[in-house]
Amino acid sequence: MSSNNDCIKFHLNIEDPNIVFSDYFKKYINGKYHSVYQAELIQPACPYCHSNNLKHNGHYTSNVRFITADASHPVTIRLKKQRVLCNDCLKRSMAQSNLVNKYCHISNASKRKVLAALTEDRSMTSIAREHNLSVNTVQRVLESCSSKFYDDLDQLPEHLAFDEFKGVGKKLHFICLDGDSHQVVQILRTRFKPEILHYFYKFTPKARAMVKTVTMDLNCYYPIVARELFPNAQIVIDRFHMVQMLTRSFNSLRVQTMKQFKKQSREYKLLKSTWKLYLMKYDKLNKQTPYYDWHFKDYLTQEHVVLDGLDCNKDLENTYWVMQDFRTAIKNKDEKQIIHLLHSKQAVGKQMHQTLLTFKHNYTGILNGISSSYSNGCLEGVNRKIKQIERTAYGYSNFRHLLIRIRLEENIIKQKEPNNYSLVA
Ligand SMILES: [Zn+2]
Repeated sequence: MSSNNDCIKFHLNIEDPNIVFSDYFKKYINGKYHSVYQAELIQPACPYCHSNNLKHNGHYTSNVRFITADASHPVTIRLKKQRVLCNDCLKRSMAQSNLVNKYCHISNASKRKVLAALTEDRSMTSIAREHNLSVNTVQRVLESCSSKFYDDLDQLPEHLAFDEFKGVGKKLHFICLDGDSHQVVQILRTRFKPEILHYFYKFTPKARAMVKTVTMDLNCYYPIVARELFPNAQIVIDRFHMVQMLTRSFNSLRVQTMKQFKKQSREYKLLKSTWKLYLMKYDKLNKQTPYYDWHFKDYLTQEHVVLDGLDCNKDLENTYWVMQDFRTAIKNKDEKQIIHLLHSKQAVGKQMHQTLLTFKHNYTGILNGISSSYSNGCLEGVNRKIKQIERTAYGYSNFRHLLIRIRLEENIIKQKEPNNYSLVA
């Protein structure tokens, strides 16, 4: 009897001395053979006065779902919990164990396993199926974790990065990252000004004064928000975003110019099929070896193609050189050249003109972006990861679930709260 109990306990990895196994058998329930282990949970002393003078008052039987290696063979522990009446303090109590929580019939071992599975890139349905649980149970385990990324209201990282990503219901959510450690500071439900202000005003003024730079892109009101929230912060416009705006402006003018020509014309072909060459750095274009291009029925070098294409329109040519010079200046961190370019009065396309105006409007931010080593590059990695999390789940309808899942998969829990498997407590 004793050796049977020890064997089962060793097999199931249960160490609670108050649990005593008596029997095991197979039972057919709902189309599956369950391995059922029968056990008694002993109440050794009164939990209120620790007296041993107890009167036994029957059992409460609970079928506890336990972990199993094979999902087609579920394991159930039929646990008979002793109920006792204390002869000293006259209080009633029922035996409890850390195998399973009170009022619960899913073992804590199963919950821990589900939590571990939630840190991987897997859908909740697949986790539920593997552990013979319902999806709702998996969601409840998920909900037992906190959705807060950053809880210290007395300090903020020195370098922040702002951006947004598409999430629940195709809405854009605001995301803020620590520029140095690349940890998520916070994700907000919307990217609107009131919500961002509301969140950051929770921090003490001292904490907000700690922020030295805020990296952001240009298409939003983030500069206004940042100036209001962080008195000592420099605004840094992301340089990759600047390049993107310049490239887009050039491309739109290229397409416009292209459409002025007939489809069979040489100009049309020059501007259409070789579009990638225009976006390459001018220094990187091949200027030596000509190749035969069947579009033009001619031997041309890459440089030749680009220059011929630019000859179609004077504005296009100017726009091209603004784009190229700007990119070179960004690469060389050449502030003088940037200032010169922003003030040049060449005729450029409408959209490029608009882009340059926007740059002038955020003059300091642009110059900071060129001289600073911080950028929004780190956010791209995090956004990609979030996209993958959403994809695996075929999208989330609950914003909080999405946040917790991002947090779990970012492994923040492992680093900050080694005892987050506190479901046991
Ligand atoms: Zn008692």
